[in-house]
Amino acid sequence: MIRKAIDELKQQIPLRDYLEAHDWRPVRRLSRGRWMGLCPLHNDHTPSFLMDPSKNLFYCYGCGCGGDVIRFAELYHQVRFPQALVLLRQWLGLAPILRATADFYGIQLHRHGEAVVYLHQRGVRSPELIEHMRIGYAPGGCLRAWLTQLGYPLSALRQAGLVSASGYDTYMHRIVFPLEGNLYGRSISASAPPHRFLPGTKGGLYAWEQVRQYQEVILVEGLFDYAVLWQAGFHNVTCSMGNHLNAYQFRQLCDGTRTVYLTFDADLNGSGQQAAQSLACRLGAQGSNARRVSLPDGHDPNSFFVQGGDAQQFQCLLEEARA
Ligand SMILES: [Zn+2]
Repeated sequence: MIRKAIDELKQQIPLRDYLEAHDWRPVRRLSRGRWMGLCPLHNDHTPSFLMDPSKNLFYCYGCGCGGDVIRFAELYHQVRFPQALVLLRQWLGLAPILRATADFYGIQLHRHGEAVVYLHQRGVRSPELIEHMRIGYAPGGCLRAWLTQLGYPLSALRQAGLVSASGYDTYMHRIVFPLEGNLYGRSISASAPPHRFLPGTKGGLYAWEQVRQYQEVILVEGLFDYAVLWQAGFHNVTCSMGNHLNAYQFRQLCDGTRTVYLTFDADLNGSGQQAAQSLACRLGAQGSNARRVSLPDGHDPNSFFVQGGDAQQFQCLLEEARA
């Protein structure tokens, strides 16, 4: 019985889909439809990770890890087998609905002038950035009807947290950013709570698969900070979505030897700087080189750029960062 259920789960999740949902990219095509890419399980510099879609198996010539999608989930999330099954089932349940939601909100962005105005106020202008982050807009009051039309039952929308118990869209007048297994929504109206996530984990570091190859990484606490830095050409930036890292994000940051520039908010109450200091100590204890970047008082990276700061000035801040 259990064996059968596990085999079914594996058949339902093509390894390639799961890998790509975790930012893995095929780099080089081999015979019989197999692919090589960078290994998501170790600090890989040459594509050593073999993926065979027909057998639904992987093997890494660098770290020697291999197996099926369940084995991959165990290694990637550093969990035991039963927990890996839970994660895969959750992913299977949530992934299609989150993808459909992100696509829908992406289309809404360009239909709502107020959303574009808000993005401009936060310094987000480049279409390339909007595409890279898949930024969308939740106007409210239309997601439920759309997803119902696509055949998603109301119970699934409620379970994902996209629709409230009373049947309304939970994201309303919010700029949305798709995350791994979640969705961040920033209110554009001052009267609503600014930040909103779906229930569940906020996931790993933002865009980590694209960033982990760099020897120097900039860590920020907000996605609008990430956005302006990426737009200014700093593609070695990642985001922890808050100044407290979960255990998974911390492990990601420590998965290789690198310099981490902690660029948290220079809040007037000092909370960002306190968080940076304690994180710098913990990173130091793991053998990472942490540097704290000092922004002008009251600024975060987003406001620094919005108020006229440029890439060169930010580069100076990086060079002045203290250990
Ligand atoms: Zn590997």
